[in-house]
Amino acid sequence: MSTPTTFVANKPQAGLLMDANEHVSMDCSHCGGTNLQSQTIRSAFWDNDRLVVIEDVPAIVCMNCHEQFYDDTTVVLLDLLRGDGFPPEKALREITVPVFSLRDKLKEKGTS
Ligand SMILES: [Zn+2]
Repeated sequence: MSTPTTFVANKPQAGLLMDANEHVSMDCSHCGGTNLQSQTIRSAFWDNDRLVVIEDVPAIVCMNCHEQFYDDTTVVLLDLLRGDGFPPEKALREITVPVFSLRDKLKEKGTS
């Protein structure tokens, strides 16, 4: 439960779970890159004005442009979660995120 998570969960000993960092033979539809790897990622989604984070998401990640691709099963599972409204009682835990604004900085720039 208290295992620290990094943005890309590519622990060397995680072979039980799935093959992390496995090279995938497909082209990136975003940049055309050919260096894609299957990884388990953490991703953030907006549900209206609510931000939710989903961990342990299997994805194909382009090493060139960092675009992420999900397979059909993952897309369906994400859609189901979204359809359920990301129920808080199913959340693993909650995190607090800092919120920034550019409003003041834009004002400074505009007046100087
Ligand atoms: Zn790419």
